[in-house]
Amino acid sequence: MNDIAHNLAQVRDKISAAATSCGRSPEEITLLAVSKTKPASAIAEAAAAGQRAFGENYVQEGVEKILHFREQGTEGLQWHFIGPLQSNKSRLVAEHFDWCHTIDRLRIAARLSEQRPADMPPLNVLIQINISDEHSKSGIAPGELDALAAQVAGLPRLRLRGLMAIPAPESDYVRQFEVARQMAVAFAGLKTHYPDVDTLSLGMSDDMEAAIAAGSTMVRIGTAIFGARHYTNN
Ligand SMILES: *Cc1c(COP(=O)(O)O)cnc(C)c1O
Repeated sequence: MNDIAHNLAQVRDKISAAATSCGRSPEEITLLAVSKTKPASAIAEAAAAGQRAFGENYVQEGVEKILHFREQGTEGLQWHFIGPLQSNKSRLVAEHFDWCHTIDRLRIAARLSEQRPADMPPLNVLIQINISDEHSKSGIAPGELDALAAQVAGLPRLRLRGLMAIPAPESDYVRQFEVARQMAVAFAGLKTHYPDVDTLSLGMSDDMEAAIAAGSTMVRIGTAIFGARHYTNN
């Protein structure tokens, strides 16, 4: 087994163990492999090991990879945009990605809906919540969710699938769980209003167990699969 296949197997085992230990089925949790800064060859290795969902943070870089695999004729890969999105880059996301996790204002959602090509399925979107209330992070305040969700759900070429958050780093499990729990409550509330809502994108390497225990349905893991990132090479 190559390194990436080996790492993936370990991450999947960790997810299964975390799910089982809180009485959930491992199938309820999707692993999103975060491939930012990593070459297409690394993604190809992960794909060969059965990984389907990939997360990218930078629009241009992500689109290049998507086009590469399309040219190769590789089918079945699913591309998630998980970085901050500027208006002038929205068209590329609308035209190439399957998901966008970082919806935090109506303006960007409306542009994505307008720009989504008619021959593609609706773009799956998550509303990003700034759950730790940090000034530096994007995402809306929890109190703004109902209003934004109603607006996003009304856009014809988007499909509102749920919520995403990047909590502030926190090493204590109990504190991680408290924050994750707040997200799970918001997610449960959203679900009662919108039948398509089924995704809570929450949990990274260091807080995956707490996120899964609270109800996450999608964990985003990069380094543990692909190794450390070297931004300067990119
Ligand atoms: C980079 C990134 C990840 C993965 O981080 P790792 O520490 O490499 O596992 C997850 N979510 C988001 C939003 C990211 O930008």
